[in-house]
Amino acid sequence: MRIGHGFDAHRFEEGRPLILGGVTIPYEQGLAAHSDGDVLVHALCDALIGAAALGDIGKHFPDSDVEFKNIDSRILLRDVIDKLEARSFSVSNVDVTVIAQRPKLSGYIEEMKINIADDLGIDSQRINIKATTTEGMGFEGRGEGISAHAVVLLIE
Ligand code: MG
Repeated sequence: MRIGHGFDAHRFEEGRPLILGGVTIPYEQGLAAHSDGDVLVHALCDALIGAAALGDIGKHFPDSDVEFKNIDSRILLRDVIDKLEARSFSVSNVDVTVIAQRPKLSGYIEEMKINIADDLGIDSQRINIKATTTEGMGFEGRGEGISAHAVVLLIE
């Protein structure tokens, strides 16, 4: 078995949709990014890539590449899974923490889990997604952006 960790953070930007775990969440701002800014999926991709010792998300999907402009991050996630499957890795379980002062995410967690389970090809019982605030501290607490941590276990 192999463990992997991923972290990502994105700034809020006016005029963009807020997409987390493939769910579009009604909010006054979205996350700035070359892709759709899905910070949860990016952290998860990095955890999966890390567990397989394949570098990082930027190596596989450079933000200088117009091919990835505004891309649905779930397409990247499914591509990562294809790369892992080609190396005989499967995903045992996933644990993700999203750090956001607002909006409140609890009502969207189940739908995110269904999306991620679908992309990973595993039962949603093997996926945990949770959200926390920082009680107003730091950049997430000031509402400047959202960050996410992900931990995964791969089976060889
Ligand atoms: Mg990112």
